[in-house]
Amino acid sequence: MEKTISAYKVHIETFGCQMNEYDTEVVRSLLKAKGFVFTEDRECADVILMNTCAIREHAHNKVYGHLADLKALKRQRKLVVGVLGCMAQNLKEEVTVTAPIVDVLVGPDSYRQLPDLLTRAIASQRTGDVAKGIAVDLSEYETYQDIMPERAAGVTAWIAIMRGCDNFCTFCVVPYTRGRERSRDPQGIIREAEHLAAQGYKQITLLGQNVNSYRFEDWDFARLITGVADVPGIKRVRFTSPHPKDFPPALLDAMAGHTHICKHIHLPLQAGNDRVLKLMGRTYSRKGYLDLVEVIRRRSANIALTTDIICGFCTETEEEFLDTYRAVQDVGYHAAFIFKYSERKNTIAARKYQDDVSERIKSDRVTRLVDLQKAISLQKNRSMIGQTVQVLVEGDAKRSSDQWMGRTDNNITVVWEKCGTGTRPGDFTPIKISRVSATTLLGEEIPIR
Ligand code: SF4
Repeated sequence: MEKTISAYKVHIETFGCQMNEYDTEVVRSLLKAKGFVFTEDRECADVILMNTCAIREHAHNKVYGHLADLKALKRQRKLVVGVLGCMAQNLKEEVTVTAPIVDVLVGPDSYRQLPDLLTRAIASQRTGDVAKGIAVDLSEYETYQDIMPERAAGVTAWIAIMRGCDNFCTFCVVPYTRGRERSRDPQGIIREAEHLAAQGYKQITLLGQNVNSYRFEDWDFARLITGVADVPGIKRVRFTSPHPKDFPPALLDAMAGHTHICKHIHLPLQAGNDRVLKLMGRTYSRKGYLDLVEVIRRRSANIALTTDIICGFCTETEEEFLDTYRAVQDVGYHAAFIFKYSERKNTIAARKYQDDVSERIKSDRVTRLVDLQKAISLQKNRSMIGQTVQVLVEGDAKRSSDQWMGRTDNNITVVWEKCGTGTRPGDFTPIKISRVSATTLLGEEIPIR
């Protein structure tokens, strides 16, 4: 007897950024509405979907590795394989040629078509047909406004407030894979936040490629984040990422004035040298960035700053790299995501510049910067020893279910032993810090009397 759609089990693997994690939740919601069911176990799945990222080479190579594994699995049994997300959009020819096992290819603006494409792929496998389902059109309007993402139960959740990007940084594929910038209706975002609060979520992270340019009628980002922070039950609101070129003073006012807006800003630097910044198309200077950091710190001294940095961008010299190194020293970030430049197909840099810094030099620069950042992070964390911090309990620690893990308001991870105090995920708990590493604070729970 033929299976109905509800008997087909879908397994989804997600690569890349938080926006991709959020998109997976949107995809789950769209598929669930059409009767598909999900499994965490890929071995018993009838459909395996990979929600992919094209931004970093590592994620990109991982997807090709997984596709090679699936090739073997597909020889053994009937299986529908789908590639979703940025790689589907940006590398459609490459993916279909190098991975002929892919049945369905769907870009980030075409997820509404996915249930139909999967249904057709399943039907065509029954008949031995090999037609591929491809939907990769970019949209000027799609924001999935009416879709309530299908989330795992928890304490923290993401809400995408906008999609796409108009900045065209020369190294970045996002404007090509996710299209032009569109902002969601604020009322829909606030309704989603209220729904999350009713389900017991305590923290929301607002997502956008450039949240500062959020605009919907007379709503800007500062008004939106305040509206979300005002939702009863939501105790913490974070956001990522703002672009340093247009950081509005009104957002700093909102952060300083609202206790529910977390004191953490992820402010991508990318490079600390003006010529390299110009080549990257970042539209701010080193001085402009450092001035902004000063303004932020003057407004709120306890704000934690984190950043993204690319080492070895096209033609970057040692002296220019040292400008980045010194900028990292000057700012003193709490943490930094540091990457080697890797050329991404179809970007401006791939078309116009030569990727001429050797792998050896790129790796050496990454290592030096990572070492520097580790030392800075460790020093900052050491200064917390003896202090008591208020932590939102997120769940078990990664390494041991005998320990809890949570985060401070400014997004530093804290781990402590469970000690029978009745603490639960979603609680706010005071933790006295006693030991630290570069990435984590360790401490003891202070019993609340
Ligand atoms: S701001 Fe630049 S780096 Fe960020 S998504 Fe847009 S183009 Fe990419």
